[in-house]
Amino acid sequence: KTFSDAGLPANVMECCKNFSKPSPIQSNAWPFLLDGRDFVGIAATGSGKTLAFGVPALMHILKKKEAGKLKKPVPRCLVLSPTRELAQQIADVLCDAGNSCGVKSVCVYGGTSKGPQISSLKSGVDIVIATPGRLKDLIEMGVCNLKDVSFAVLDEADRMLDMGFEPEVRSILSQTCSSRQMVMFSATWPLAVHQLAQEFMDPDPVKV
Ligand code: AMP
Repeated sequence: KTFSDAGLPANVMECCKNFSKPSPIQSNAWPFLLDGRDFVGIAATGSGKTLAFGVPALMHILKKKEAGKLKKPVPRCLVLSPTRELAQQIADVLCDAGNSCGVKSVCVYGGTSKGPQISSLKSGVDIVIATPGRLKDLIEMGVCNLKDVSFAVLDEADRMLDMGFEPEVRSILSQTCSSRQMVMFSATWPLAVHQLAQEFMDPDPVKV
């Protein structure tokens, strides 16, 4: 498959300009995610999974923006990551990808001061990339509202649960839009991850 098979606008495809063709996880995920389906990807880091969900996330946001013109952005896409390092990697990719199409991202994680993260959230963002503990704090402080999040991604879901973030993940997801589109990536598929998927995803998500 080629990038033009995906039928995406040029400003969105700009983020793939250095690649010759979509990675397998990208060409598998894009048609389903662009069609609004829930999606489970069993994929490791290095597979190109960030843009596998990132490109559909941009499309999702652009469609919403078109519907409600000229307002300050509100979080419509949430990406949860188990670690700060992974969150920052995702944010680097999504900030860059969002530049060419006017989509703003913020990355929030613990172990650093809240001030700059709060300022970014207040200035208005489309995508929140976060570790669960810090995001929960910011929600409780009233500086982050997830009610308009209609595209949610759990990256490295198995690791997130291994690290004990299950209560935070459940609490955070339950504050997003109930009709949200949900994407999960996990390297393994243990019972705890399966149960989380059953609770927060459509009964028959696409599994790749
Ligand atoms: P990820 O799995 O998202 O962390 O991506 C791993 C690496 O693959 C990153 O360095 C990306 O820049 C790169 N990458 C993403 N998509 C493609 C693609 N379609 N072709 C070649 N490399 C890619």
